[in-house]
Amino acid sequence: MGYSFLRLAREALRDHTGWRPAWRDAEPKPRYDVVVIGGGGHGLATAYYLARNHGARNVAVVEKGWIGGGNTGRNTTVIRSNYYFPSSAELYDLSLRLYENLGVDLNYNVMVSQRGFLFLAHAPLQLEMYNRIVNALLVNGIDAELLSSDEVFRRAPLLNRAMRWPVVGGFTQPRAGIARHDAVAWGYARAADRLGVDIVQHCEVTGLRQAGGRITAVETTRGTIEAGAVAIVVAGHSSVLAAMAGLRLPVTSYALQAMVSEPVKPILDTVVNSPATGVYVSQSDKGELVFGGGLDLYPSYAQRGNLPVVEHVIAGLIEMFPAFAQLRLMRKWAGIVDVVHDSSPILGPTPVDGLYINCGWGTGGFKAIPAGGWLTAHCIATGGHHALSAPFDLGRFATGALVDEAAAAGIAH
Ligand SMILES: Cc1cc2nc3c(=O)[nH]c(=O)nc-3n(C[C@H](O)[C@H](O)[C@H](O)COP(=O)(O)OP(=O)(O)OC[C@H]3O[C@@H](n4cnc5c(N)ncnc54)[C@H](O)[C@@H]3O)c2cc1C
Repeated sequence: MGYSFLRLAREALRDHTGWRPAWRDAEPKPRYDVVVIGGGGHGLATAYYLARNHGARNVAVVEKGWIGGGNTGRNTTVIRSNYYFPSSAELYDLSLRLYENLGVDLNYNVMVSQRGFLFLAHAPLQLEMYNRIVNALLVNGIDAELLSSDEVFRRAPLLNRAMRWPVVGGFTQPRAGIARHDAVAWGYARAADRLGVDIVQHCEVTGLRQAGGRITAVETTRGTIEAGAVAIVVAGHSSVLAAMAGLRLPVTSYALQAMVSEPVKPILDTVVNSPATGVYVSQSDKGELVFGGGLDLYPSYAQRGNLPVVEHVIAGLIEMFPAFAQLRLMRKWAGIVDVVHDSSPILGPTPVDGLYINCGWGTGGFKAIPAGGWLTAHCIATGGHHALSAPFDLGRFATGALVDEAAAAGIAH
């Protein structure tokens, strides 16, 4: 059932009785050509592009909870492609370009809003570094503009002019912005379902079976499912799943927190990030201020986060925007993110035949969902790498060819 203005009008006239569930709640079959573990954005996008780009029809996504209930439904929704190295810029810009047309492609409103992303500079030296970054981005074909302090305050008028670390300028990526996180998961799920993908919720993978160095099946809480190929796409739980296949990953899992204020009228129409306070903020379409900062300080699988980080983030936010002190904090939450030494993803085949991995996005993989899914699907369908995923192979930790994006990944967003 396609979504359209006509369809909406028809349903309005018959009291919305004609809508069907957006995807089937599938029962697991005994065998699939491909089983994707993890019903977050990357897993669902992998299944969708396997079906759409490569004609795969016998595919399942198995999710231990509900789709989008992991980091995909917990993130602060920033999308951008201003990464430093050419290989990263190509990857993240493919993603941003796919986002720009995603609503039409999926026939689902993912609420992409390209309102720009503003990095603040708090010292002349930092502005000099930004100058260098902007030049590198432009050479990579990514839109970027260096800004004076006047231009920064014009874009964010409520910003504190008397900050302890004065704002001396900044830079922006005009095509960056936000998208609705749940809608991205739901849109991919619905579009994949329409192409025959089975989405199996409340089905936890508890073991991986191999024979002769090749993956043969996944063991789940709803029985064993044979598989021609398996993709591990579980973000913060990647090490747990990889260990089931005898693999040790260079991934550390941390809680990452975010918060929202009560909703207010439009007061901030760009995303603002201050490396000095360690805080970034945007305003959602509902009117809430959505903000966050860095990781909790110690590795953990406890999906709740600690209070010192909340305190630090709120103090930074109020330093940046004193007027926001009047707002009430509505909610705070955490997700478990998969952090890698070079702050770049791990994407592609593994040493086990037929087993693929997509992880390591750490604090910034929402923006990468379309490209991550596209490239993981390509690897599974062809058994090898796409040119864009090759630099992000797991083997880089043995060769030392790291893609160090710590500066671009920065604090979470
Ligand atoms: C607070 C916060 C803010 C963030 N802000 C941003 C941002 O602004 N911009 C940005 O680009 N990124 C951001 N991120 C990062 C981004 O959310 C993640 O990188 C991205 O969502 C990862 O998507 P995923 O599909 O790989 O993982 P997830 O969405 O976490 O999906 C993985 C799924 O695997 C499932 N799973 C785990 N174990 C099993 C098992 N054994 N069997 C079956 N299923 C299993 C989980 O239940 C989960 O649903 C943020 C993250 C957090 C936590």
